[in-house]
Amino acid sequence: MPTYTPPLRDMQFVMHEVLHVVDDLTAIPKHADMDVDTINAVLEEGGKFAAEVAFPLNQSGDAEGCKLDPVTHEVTTPTGFKEAYAKYVEGGWPALACDTAFGGQGLPHIVNQCFYEMLNSANQSWTMYPGLTHGAYAALHAHGTEEQKQTYLHKMTSGEWLGTMCLTEAHCGTDLGLMRSKAEPQADGTYKITGEKIFISAGENDMASNIIHLVLARLPDAPVGIKGVSLFIVPKFLVKQDGSLGARNGIYCGGLEHKMGICGNATAQLVLDGAVGTMVGQPNKGMQAMFVMMNAARLGVGNQSLGQTEVAYQNALAYAKERIQMRSLTGVKAKDKPADPIIVHPDVRKMLLTAKAYAEGGRALLCYSAMLLEKEHSHPDEKVRKDAGELLAMLTPIVKAFITDNGHISTNACMQVFGGHGYIKDWGMEQFARDNRINMIYEGTNTVQSLDLLGRKILGNSGATLRKFGKLVGQLVAEEGVNEKMAEFITPIAILGDQMTKFTTEIGFKGFQNADEVGAAAVDYLRVAGHLVFGYFWARMAQVALREIAAGNTDSFYLAKVQTARFYFAKLFPETATLMRTARAGSKVLMDTDAALA
Ligand SMILES: Cc1cc2nc3c(=O)[nH]c(=O)nc-3n(C[C@H](O)[C@H](O)[C@H](O)COP(=O)(O)OP(=O)(O)OC[C@H]3O[C@@H](n4cnc5c(N)ncnc54)[C@H](O)[C@@H]3O)c2cc1C
Repeated sequence: MPTYTPPLRDMQFVMHEVLHVVDDLTAIPKHADMDVDTINAVLEEGGKFAAEVAFPLNQSGDAEGCKLDPVTHEVTTPTGFKEAYAKYVEGGWPALACDTAFGGQGLPHIVNQCFYEMLNSANQSWTMYPGLTHGAYAALHAHGTEEQKQTYLHKMTSGEWLGTMCLTEAHCGTDLGLMRSKAEPQADGTYKITGEKIFISAGENDMASNIIHLVLARLPDAPVGIKGVSLFIVPKFLVKQDGSLGARNGIYCGGLEHKMGICGNATAQLVLDGAVGTMVGQPNKGMQAMFVMMNAARLGVGNQSLGQTEVAYQNALAYAKERIQMRSLTGVKAKDKPADPIIVHPDVRKMLLTAKAYAEGGRALLCYSAMLLEKEHSHPDEKVRKDAGELLAMLTPIVKAFITDNGHISTNACMQVFGGHGYIKDWGMEQFARDNRINMIYEGTNTVQSLDLLGRKILGNSGATLRKFGKLVGQLVAEEGVNEKMAEFITPIAILGDQMTKFTTEIGFKGFQNADEVGAAAVDYLRVAGHLVFGYFWARMAQVALREIAAGNTDSFYLAKVQTARFYFAKLFPETATLMRTARAGSKVLMDTDAALA
């Protein structure tokens, strides 16, 4: 049976010792009273919920799955899921970072971010039910009318109602411009929506009294393509003027997908049969509003893989200390045992350290991103808001794709640590690998993220945002460039920072002549950019740890940080050289292959 311990110490290190989040938060009027103790106390309680309520349902939920009643179209979630959700609501957890104007507790995003990392480690399937609601809440908060906000946000904040995002149709996932669902305007200002959506996470369930679906559909006179897509609120139960539930709306579950992982989450085919909806935002501008939800969800998906990486690492580490096989190459280590624990073997350590380095690097990036989100929304200085928004836009595809790809590498490595036992369900390791796998696919595949990063976010503004990030790297290099102890962490990012400028210009130039050059380089490019970002945070974490050690702090936590940073720069970061080389191989080797792919 797997176990899970909330990584509170590491969260505190990132938040308070590396990022000093309280300094940034108290500069924002609504968080002026925020302090370290409050953040830590909330997360301690949150960790208990994750470990004691959500985690025990992870394996059973995976084995049992969801059930659809074909007559009533109602879905039953795995045993215990509904009760765990009731506890979550009772504890006020849905309201944590929601606006106080709608009954929220108004805590900073970073608190919710860390809380959700723990929930994701504990049970990704369960966590997706409340998790998607946060995205729907954000889209309505940003683009809903006052009436829509008053009608829906209070109940989504309290957790009484859940939310979903309904984009995908059988013939279109990436290319939403192909969408066919239709919305007919009605005399009373509502719309009648007809169509079929597939793959809708948490699309039907028994956990909340109402489900607020955010649905993309086309108006009758809509222009073709993505510029003709509008967004609608389609509640499972219509909501009366007084806020109470009315008639069952014409949106129901026509089937549940049988999947590789996240089996406790209901992935629903939803049939819209003249369902009543109200428009969010402007006609044909649905993607603008939906992007608020999609951006939140992309950060959320990165957080799911961070959670999976952490829990897989914890279990692999414990196993590697217990399992005895063979003797160490350098001589017997456990004299009292017939063999040494497998943690003595270099490659087992490599697998463990890979997961640890990717988990801790991912945590730093996600915490940093949560602070950018906070600043973008609430900082009093307009320039800070703008800069934070731009940087976050660039980092979002890296969070989504780099962290989920690393989650794939890490959960597989941790499963490998268990040998054959990793493949056996009882140990729980294969579930982490299976559950993590979807994170590379949904919310825009990782390929699509790489095109977004390179095409839109970097070449689209001639590298301006990349240069902004480059400045942060430059500051750190200037600060620590003469510190010999930091050289092994600073030199690689200084070199890569310089190389990135040339690398980006080169791809941009080639892409200008042939757009396939961008498509051919994008996935490699995102991984290189991901390492520049992780390298920056690993160097900052090493900097803090080295200072503590130099000041005489003997807490082994700091030595562990330095050792992990050293491993990261020596064994993981250098793949950037190969990636730049393969990116430079260009599009010809891919596109002049018709005979090979005939
Ligand atoms: C378990 C699960 C849960 C999901 N939850 C939701 C949900 O809650 N709501 C929702 O709306 N959707 C959801 N989805 C759908 C998911 O977002 C899509 O599956 C995903 O976006 C990919 O779309 P597709 O499956 O149609 O693949 P396609 O778009 O057909 O893509 C197929 C392949 O082609 C590649 N490709 C496509 N276009 C390009 C391009 N221009 N350049 C390079 N490569 C390209 C893709 O990267 C992919 O590898 C879910 C899916 C699953 C499996």
